[in-house]
Amino acid sequence: AVEIRLAERPHGEPTMANFEIADVDTPQPGPGQVLVRNTWLSVDPYMRGRMSSAKSYAAPYEVGEAMTGGAVGEVVASNADGLAVGDTVLHQLGWRTHAIVDADNAAKIDVTSAPAPAYLGVLGMPGLTAYAGLFDVARFAEGDAVFVSGAAGAVGSMVGQLAKLRGASRVIGSAGSAEKVRWLTEELGFDAAFNYKDGPVTDQLQDAAPDGIDVYFDNVGGEHLEAAIGSMNLGGRIAICGMISQYNATEPQPGPRNLVQFIAKRLTMRGFLVGDHLDARPRFVDDVAPLVGDGSIVYSETVVEGIRNAPQAFLDLLAGSNTGKMLVRV
Ligand code: NDP
Repeated sequence: AVEIRLAERPHGEPTMANFEIADVDTPQPGPGQVLVRNTWLSVDPYMRGRMSSAKSYAAPYEVGEAMTGGAVGEVVASNADGLAVGDTVLHQLGWRTHAIVDADNAAKIDVTSAPAPAYLGVLGMPGLTAYAGLFDVARFAEGDAVFVSGAAGAVGSMVGQLAKLRGASRVIGSAGSAEKVRWLTEELGFDAAFNYKDGPVTDQLQDAAPDGIDVYFDNVGGEHLEAAIGSMNLGGRIAICGMISQYNATEPQPGPRNLVQFIAKRLTMRGFLVGDHLDARPRFVDDVAPLVGDGSIVYSETVVEGIRNAPQAFLDLLAGSNTGKMLVRV
């Protein structure tokens, strides 16, 4: 068996030296546990936060210990009622080939209705983040114009499509390459998209949304947030989902310089964690699974092969090499 450990905490941008790839004996399950052979690992931006020692909503990874994260795998030995050898389960002990999982922490998934990796992306945590953030946090309403940053990522690509399907007047996305911009407008139905590396976000957003925006779904922070505030219409809502432009920062970053606009425009800005919106999950699955099944929602996965390439996959995620959900096939 192989596991990926945190070798040292990154300062600024993570590097390969922060990870250790360790060969270990395959563990055996105790009472109430199953041995899962992981098949798919989720690679997520929040993992950058857990590599740091700073206090946050999720406990830091420990130096010298295996990292954790969302994973899907097959039960290969079971000491638990209700889980049998051959079952496919979703759990939180990724970053390793074999995991001992308490049965309470393993959710059986139905791989006949959707492929296993979809439960880590479009039908999983990122999908629910998009759904809850757009509808419950930003209180999207039909006719709203929506701007989403990180639009070609797992969360962002879902936000734009959900808004479009629910009657947005205009959906605008930003992403970091011409190919991603093309994917958004030509395959996902975004009305407009731009590459934030091509010029000031404020100018590009004004061009893409001449009538302003009512909802901003923020995955990026920094310059994007300031630009969005500048383009907000009266009564606009901002959902703060992520601020990936700041995750490697070693010093506090300056805030938007135009916050005064909140007053006259009566804006609202709210941060959220998907973990506080698990009650939306049944609604999310009922609404979204059929749309994924019939192709109304398009999704993409960037697959990196092999557990030993998981650290590189994480570095690549931060660098933007993924379109849609970043995954490792074990
Ligand atoms: P993505 O699939 O969007 O992958 C991350 C993307 O971020 C990269 O592909 C890259 O795309 C972009 N990026 C990296 N650095 C920068 C930068 N400096 N400026 C702008 N874009 C950058 O990841 P997810 O969909 O999983 O997550 C999206 C956001 O949502 C993250 O901020 C994450 O932390 C947050 N999140 C929050 C949750 C919550 O509960 N609040 C739950 C899940 C995710 P590009 O080529 O466009 O630069």
